[in-house]
Amino acid sequence: MNYIVGLTGGIGSGKSTIAEFFAELGVPIVDADVVARQVVEKGSPLLAQIADHFGNQILTEAGELNRTALRALIFGNENEKNWLNALLHPAIRQAMLAQLQAQTAAYTLFVVPLLIENKLTALCDRILVIDVSEQTQLKRASLRDQNNQKLIQQIMDAQVNRATRLSYADDVINNDGEIAQTRDLLRQKVLELHHTYLALAEEKR
Ligand code: ATP
Repeated sequence: MNYIVGLTGGIGSGKSTIAEFFAELGVPIVDADVVARQVVEKGSPLLAQIADHFGNQILTEAGELNRTALRALIFGNENEKNWLNALLHPAIRQAMLAQLQAQTAAYTLFVVPLLIENKLTALCDRILVIDVSEQTQLKRASLRDQNNQKLIQQIMDAQVNRATRLSYADDVINNDGEIAQTRDLLRQKVLELHHTYLALAEEKR
């Protein structure tokens, strides 16, 4: 397997924003959220299993997963939630591993919101944490999703806290500044890290 840099951060910290700077440099990205959608895409065996279990009400007319319907069905039902997780988690893990193994570039950026919570740090050679204050998280996540702050706070409470996340970091990018002012600086920081990762990947070979 090539060199793997895990990128993580809490909800609304700016993972996608920073990952985009790496993508601009040609770094391949395996994104856990993308993989989680791919394993249940239209026509997939997993989607068929979910529809068998919950009924066709979890499908849209186009035959895609109706996430809102599924969420409503498992809400507050631990058994159903566990059933779904037992089906999805191993499949997502396997698909992520396959995608990581298929990469041929010097290193791959592995973007995972719950990298620490789901113990995926073991797959990484290096960990980059996108760090912001809780206040920034609340502000940006609620602006983006038009969600109320209470829901964002609940999601934050279910994730590891800032200090715990930082204790896993080999590298940290602070993203508290407003992007209009910090874009060039962030790009520069990503470029420096890119050179570091290329060198470390070369050492590992
Ligand atoms: P999630 O895990 O919640 O999907 P994320 O960590 O990938 O989020 P982004 O989607 O990159 O975070 O950023 C969250 C929101 O904050 C987006 O609307 C994004 O445009 C905005 N944002 C990110 N960084 C900055 C910044 N430095 N200044 C202002 N807005 C920002």
